[in-house]
Amino acid sequence: MTADTTPLPCCPQCGQNDTVRPVSAIVQEEPESPLAQKLAAPRSPRPVPAIGCATLFFGTMVSISAAIFAVGLTELTATAPRTSLLFGVRDTSVFTGIITFLFVFVGVHGMFVWRQARLNRIFRRAFVAWHRASERWQQLFYCARCDGLFLPGQTTLTPVDQMQTLIYARRPPSQATVAPPSGAEGG
Ligand SMILES: [Zn+2]
Repeated sequence: MTADTTPLPCCPQCGQNDTVRPVSAIVQEEPESPLAQKLAAPRSPRPVPAIGCATLFFGTMVSISAAIFAVGLTELTATAPRTSLLFGVRDTSVFTGIITFLFVFVGVHGMFVWRQARLNRIFRRAFVAWHRASERWQQLFYCARCDGLFLPGQTTLTPVDQMQTLIYARRPPSQATVAPPSGAEGG
């Protein structure tokens, strides 16, 4: 809205602003141009999908397999007399099977929850970095004469192919010691 009234900042290399344009304007106005392709806005990270039915199913299957294995193993090693049988297996084997099922199910599910939490943490960090990069990208200017990018106040020009490094940098790029108040009368 105010883009037309705000004077464009001067390029740190040539010191002029006659060939300076906001990067967002270049991308908006000529999205198909090779330059705009290079200057495209940073992409937001994909959110982590929630733990769904497939995960629950997988956990159940693994637990059942482990339980069957445990029952079989107990049957083979058990020395107790076959006094009380349930479906042809001993009580102790059934008990072992149930306990194995519960432990493995909780274990597998816990592993997924832990993995989910870890991925969510990574996503949050990536999202914060992307948000900051987007804000910087919005303030980015391109000088056609020098074929480089700069943020207002930046003392050096950044090559176009280093845009990602510039916008994702942890600290803002080298700023002028004291940013001079933008001259209102300049044009
Ligand atoms: Zn320039």
